[in-house]
Amino acid sequence: MAGISRYNHFQSWRDGNHIAYNARTGAVALMTDENYACYEQIKRKLAGEPEPSFDAKEKELVSQLQYGGFVLSGDFDEREDLTFRHLMNRYDQTTLGLVIAPTMACNMACEYCYEADKKGRMSAEIVETILDFVEKRARNLQLVDINWYGGEPLLAMDIIEDITESMQDLAEEYKFTCSSSMISNGYLLTKEIVDKLRELKVSMIQITLDGPARIHNRKRPLKNGRESYDTIVENIKYATTKMAIGMRVNVDKSFTEDTIAEMLCELKDAELQDRVGIYFGLLEPATSVCANISESCYNNADFSKEEIKFYRLLLEHGFRIEKLPSPVSVFCMSQDVNSFLIDPGGNLYRCFNHVGNREKSMGNIKSNIDYNHPNFTGLFRFNPFLDGDCKDCAILPVCMGGCPSRRADRNLKREDLCESWKHNLPQMLEIIALSRQQQAKTAAKEQT
Ligand code: SF4
Ligand code: SF4
Repeated sequence: MAGISRYNHFQSWRDGNHIAYNARTGAVALMTDENYACYEQIKRKLAGEPEPSFDAKEKELVSQLQYGGFVLSGDFDEREDLTFRHLMNRYDQTTLGLVIAPTMACNMACEYCYEADKKGRMSAEIVETILDFVEKRARNLQLVDINWYGGEPLLAMDIIEDITESMQDLAEEYKFTCSSSMISNGYLLTKEIVDKLRELKVSMIQITLDGPARIHNRKRPLKNGRESYDTIVENIKYATTKMAIGMRVNVDKSFTEDTIAEMLCELKDAELQDRVGIYFGLLEPATSVCANISESCYNNADFSKEEIKFYRLLLEHGFRIEKLPSPVSVFCMSQDVNSFLIDPGGNLYRCFNHVGNREKSMGNIKSNIDYNHPNFTGLFRFNPFLDGDCKDCAILPVCMGGCPSRRADRNLKREDLCESWKHNLPQMLEIIALSRQQQAKTAAKEQT
């Protein structure tokens, strides 16, 4: 017997239409009022009768809805399926995720930086140890996914080159694929560096821009006090011709719609509107080092309201949204047994927020991995399918319990543990529908 998915979401839209979204499959459909009424009828029948009979119109709609996962076939158990995929990814040994910080030094002095003023470059010995670590596991690997991090990773290009070239040799010898991305402040991303990174197969860089020039330059000055905005935007222009550039905007209470509109106008003047994907990150006092910014930070529920307004602005100004609610099997690296963040000293971490804080390290790459280490289990042990709220949550497939560090490291209220989608999914559905329309228009334009 068929059934209705527990992950269906609907929102009324323009001209009497309804947006239908399934959080497990990510399917989005636009339904006429008539079809929506027919769906409600199907739902009633499925709930009330063991073997319901459908007329021709209902049968047709059931088959379309099954395709998108809105209606389930036979005895398919979607929560069992989700649990299976979650566990598969949690314990997957065929992909090795490495976040590598070749240096903790940085050329910027951002007011909220949790990495404080750390120094240190990766030694040749640690580089060798990382390569040995990969080689020992290489026979089982299909993919090594590297994310360059820091500090500012571009201050250690020589180390990035060394590791990448040797990793590519290993990939060839052991027949695994190697993918590579980077989180950078973008200031040192000159044309020469972009070309070099392309040679090293870096395909995506995430760069933070904190508002329009006047705000970004205050929040993210260089260490020598100089402004960084113009150089970063100039660098991004060339970089977008060679690789994907994602732009993160860290939002705190100082951001208003006017501020975001001002930033988007500046980016349009730089002709970047259809060349970068933008997403808004909640600025959080994630460690004691940055507790001083807590006054200016939104809580999750308030952020989720602002986020919607900002996404609308992105679409109005013709920008692509980088991150929309979509199904994930695990929330982040800390829930994946085979992902590690490695600092320049070879210390291993399970969370971006912990890098450089030795008290949060789960050991060193020179030693055997200790899967019983409290800094491993502390984040890994959370299982959304065993949590009373998460297991029955209608957005579980796009949230998977949210950030484990928020649960383990900070004493947050329930509503602040949930992803912002929990608070704004109905409004977000409109954004998703508009964004899909925009993508379809862009694709059609590219074809002509
Ligand atoms: S635990 Fe939270 S802060 Fe840490 S990497 Fe995961 S999502 Fe990010
Ligand atoms: S953290 Fe909140 S939104 Fe996420 S799955 Fe759990 S209950 Fe749902």
